[in-house]
Amino acid sequence: MNNEAHENPRKGPTAERLRKLRTAIAASDLDALLVSQPENRRYLSGFTGSAGWLFVSEKAAILATDFRYVEQAGAESPEFEVVRTTRELRDWFTGLVSDAGWHRLGFEAGVVSFDSHRKLGEAMESSQANLELVPTNDLVEQLRAIKEPPELDLITKAVKLADDALAQAKPGIRPGVTERETAWEIEKLLRQQGSEAVAFEIIVASGPNAALPHARPTDRPIGAGDTVVIDMGARFNGYCSDLSRTLLVGQTDGTLREIYDIVLRAQIAAIEGVESGMDAVQADRLARSVIERAGYGDAFGHGLGHGVGLAVHESPTLGPGGSGSLADGMVFTIEPGIYLPGRGGVRIEDMVVMEQGRARVLTGANKDCFQQSAIC
Ligand code: ZN
Repeated sequence: MNNEAHENPRKGPTAERLRKLRTAIAASDLDALLVSQPENRRYLSGFTGSAGWLFVSEKAAILATDFRYVEQAGAESPEFEVVRTTRELRDWFTGLVSDAGWHRLGFEAGVVSFDSHRKLGEAMESSQANLELVPTNDLVEQLRAIKEPPELDLITKAVKLADDALAQAKPGIRPGVTERETAWEIEKLLRQQGSEAVAFEIIVASGPNAALPHARPTDRPIGAGDTVVIDMGARFNGYCSDLSRTLLVGQTDGTLREIYDIVLRAQIAAIEGVESGMDAVQADRLARSVIERAGYGDAFGHGLGHGVGLAVHESPTLGPGGSGSLADGMVFTIEPGIYLPGRGGVRIEDMVVMEQGRARVLTGANKDCFQQSAIC
């Protein structure tokens, strides 16, 4: 008889994730970790509600949530013992920690607010348990960076939703239509096809607005001769996609066409050049060096890309300030850009997955950028 035959059939992916987290907790010299970051909470427990705390130690896995979510938590998180919280943190927290025998409780330093930290400290004092709050960083995020095959399937579906919505929206992107109308059209197409939400606010940035990497859609009508940057993403079963394309509408001037070609060359160089084991700064250099050699180094003011999963921005971070290195199973964007204030901008973004040491492109949207208008 093998051991697997005895595995609980209800055990989903969260059992293995908990096992990995427990190794990381022990390696960080902690007795337990308090997790409140929403995507981390969902990743570890399967719980999709919007409020709750996880406590994970070597033996315990507790999901503390309020009245609204207790039933849902029980159904979604079979690995976890569900504890109902009450209004005052100290009322439920004290009981929970005083029996546990923990001394060092890690918390997510980048997530827990000043106010929550203060309340936790007060509750710990009143529990009279010999317990210390220890700041941690990225313990769960590091696990999330490497995607499991079922996660990759969901991401692939989210990618396809964005590809299809853009393909359908593209013919309508022409002079006279405003940025805001275009963004709304894309949002409708995403939702109609089954995206559960937009992954983030859609960017449609035309003309001079395209020089702003994170522009919001305005009532500006798209003009002939504009570059139009579109940045959009779908969400499917919690997993996101992220896609940018730039359209050259009508007769754009030579400089805008030139920067389009440079950005495309930089993007292809990075897609072909990234390897597992390469550090995040070096990956960024693959594209940045192409743009620098063309004389536009100062006009590429953001990093090359970012991980995508339950969050649209997650580990790894590829950029001049990035850290860590790429590994098989990571899913991230490759999105160089050039922005010329007052004139326009270009960004081209694909999602890739690292497999057998190299990047496989997930995005299927074509890169035909010439958008003819009635005027040209
Ligand atoms: Zn992006």
